Amino acid sequence: MSLLHSLRKGFFPSQCQLCQTVIDKSGLCQACHTTLPHIVHDEINLLTRPDINRMFHLPYCDGLSACAWYQGAMSNWLKQVKYHNNRVATKVLRQLITTHWHTTNFARRVDIDACILVPLANTRLIFRGYNQVYQTWAPLLTEQRFPMLDAIGKRATRSQVNMTKHARTHNVMQAYFIKHSLTKKRILLIDDVITTGATINCIAALCKAAGASQVWAYATCLTEV
Ligand SMILES: [Zn+2]
Repeated sequence: MSLLHSLRKGFFPSQCQLCQTVIDKSGLCQACHTTLPHIVHDEINLLTRPDINRMFHLPYCDGLSACAWYQGAMSNWLKQVKYHNNRVATKVLRQLITTHWHTTNFARRVDIDACILVPLANTRLIFRGYNQVYQTWAPLLTEQRFPMLDAIGKRATRSQVNMTKHARTHNVMQAYFIKHSLTKKRILLIDDVITTGATINCIAALCKAAGASQVWAYATCLTEV
C-alpha cells in the first residue's frame, strides 16, 4: 500500500454505506451485506424455482441467475449508477455481484464461452457516456477473463418505464438487432434489472437465431411482481 494511500485511509476511512461502521474497503460491512434482499435458491438456475418461473417468461434462456430483489436500498443504488454514474453505489453493486458470483460458484457450475452485456442505444450511450451494466460488471468479467462480445446493437426506442408487458415486448422486438454470428457459443447475457423479462428474452432469442448453443441470463436484480 502506498504512503499516500495509507494517509488517505487514515484521514478518510471507508465507511459502510448503510451503518457507517469503518471498514477496509468501500461498500457494505459484512453484517449489512447479509441484510440485503438476496435471492436464495439451492439450485444454480432460478428458473427451477416455481415462483420465479411464473414471474418471468424466458423461453429462450437456458438458465437464470440474479443477486437480489429490486427493492429498498437496492433500487436506489441501481438508479444512482444508471442515472448518475455514482461511484459509491457502483462499488456497492460490484461487491454484491462479486460476492454472489463466488458464493454460487457460478464459473464452475455453468460453462460459458463469452458474455454479452445488454447494450444501450448509441444515442443514449453518447448522452450518458457510460453503460451501467458495464460499470458494475466489467471488473468481475475481466478478472474471470471472459470475452465481452459487442454482438447486439440497439436502436433508439421509447423508454419502457410505465409500459404494459405487451407494449414492452413489442417495443423490445423493434429495438435490438444482432451484429455477428454466435455459432455454437455458450453465452452469458448480463443485465442490471429484469422487470418483465421481455428484453432479456428477446436478446436471448436473437442470440439463439445467431447460432448460440446456450444463453444464460444473469441480472444484478429481479423485480418482484
Ligand atoms: Zn454496515
